[in-house]
Amino acid sequence: MPKPIVAVVGRPNVGKSTLVNRIAVSRDAIVHESRGVTRDRSYHEADWNGRDFVLIDTGGIESVKSKDVFAPRIREQALAACEEADVIVFVVDGSVGVTDEDEEVARVVRRSNKPVILVVNKVDNPSSEDEAWPFYSLGVGEPHAISANHGYGTGDLLDEVVANFPPEDEESEEDDGYLGVAIIGRPNVGKSSLANRLAKRNRSIVSDVAGTTRDAVDTLIEWKGNRIRLVDTAGMRKKSQVHEDVEYYSLVRGLQAMDRAEVCILVVDASVGVTEQDQKLLGMAVDRGCAVVMALNKWDLIDTQEKRDRVMESLDMRMGYAPWVPYVNISALTGRAVDKILAATLAAAEAHQREVKTSDINKLLAQLREGGHTVTDKNRRLKIHYGTQTGTKPPSFTFWCNAPDLIDDNYERFLENRMRSTFDFGGTPIRLKFKRKD
Ligand code: GDP
Ligand code: GDP
Repeated sequence: MPKPIVAVVGRPNVGKSTLVNRIAVSRDAIVHESRGVTRDRSYHEADWNGRDFVLIDTGGIESVKSKDVFAPRIREQALAACEEADVIVFVVDGSVGVTDEDEEVARVVRRSNKPVILVVNKVDNPSSEDEAWPFYSLGVGEPHAISANHGYGTGDLLDEVVANFPPEDEESEEDDGYLGVAIIGRPNVGKSSLANRLAKRNRSIVSDVAGTTRDAVDTLIEWKGNRIRLVDTAGMRKKSQVHEDVEYYSLVRGLQAMDRAEVCILVVDASVGVTEQDQKLLGMAVDRGCAVVMALNKWDLIDTQEKRDRVMESLDMRMGYAPWVPYVNISALTGRAVDKILAATLAAAEAHQREVKTSDINKLLAQLREGGHTVTDKNRRLKIHYGTQTGTKPPSFTFWCNAPDLIDDNYERFLENRMRSTFDFGGTPIRLKFKRKD
């Protein structure tokens, strides 16, 4: 089930980013700059009492001098946030009092019909909680006094946030025999073109998946006897009403789709090349343990050697750290190689759930020992006694060794590469863990 989304809204300088940074656990925020907005929006992973959620800092629109420009901007960002959020955290500044801009935001969040939690920030001294009461006038319920700087009140706030999440859905989509595939990518790279192309070519049924929240619509296709669920194809088609927020919208939808997928098809616009945002999306898919294949789309536009070289250069630069991600040059427009991307997807799914026998892992370890590949420090020499697979989707392994602290990134990468070349894990991340055993 997709993680609930919490949007933090409010006028500039009330402390939204400070609050988000206090709550977020992950450093790998997606940041996005949209036209005319000087600061970024960012998306953060967070959890509280075992519930994972996505936290959106709708962030700071920097104060623009003219008020006429400013108010609509605030309204727009609040609107966009409300559209996707499950819970809205509306932040105001207790040291300033109610402003016109707060009232502007209040109007938007009230209309959203979503749970709104009103947070009065900068109440640095708990004994001055009374500062919060005037904010009742905003008409969005009881004010919660906090200090994002000091952390005061944030625990209670998070309790309240989590209490407003949709109930956790026990129903699993995983056992229906369909492989969950998310088509992810920046806006306009051709995700919906690819989804349509795949759906048209193959027997396809649009399914309203029971139990999924919001308006996710999956497309079920069958290809060479394989049943594939293209996750949230509605999210690819539907563009945000707020024009500026197409990117925002597709990122959030993409994150949710990843959570419901085993394999991600990362669509990249070859005519632009692989961008930093593409690289980030890859990182997020990998963090979630998804298998990944890359579709270099719009290949019909790559008609000279120079253009080909440029794409490959960007590929090396951005994807060099994950050389296991297979890529296919496709054109969703002409249909070129779209079958190949399905074949790559199925191969990645296969690797993603592959189980390797313990004896085979230990054969490899014996070879490494004979080859003398190890790490040492002054008085110790790493010895990996044995290893075993502890999980799939993605394949996860635990190795028992005399001195796990000797294992550095280099050695881990070396071992990962040997595991990959021995057991063919193309298209899937793998996880290695080291435990001590003397
Ligand atoms: P945003 O524009 O809403 O994201 O606001 P920021 O998070 O950038 O914060 C604006 C300013 O308020 C910064 O100078 C923060 O240090 C300050 N600030 C944020 N939270 C608190 C707080 O709890 N107490 C006080 N005194 N200042 C705060
Ligand atoms: P999405 O926002 O990622 O879903 O992208 P769309 O599928 O809406 O495509 C964005 C634009 O790129 C549209 O104008 C498509 O016609 C165009 N497009 C998609 N795939 C291709 C392709 O393979 N080649 C070319 N030349 N254009 C494409």
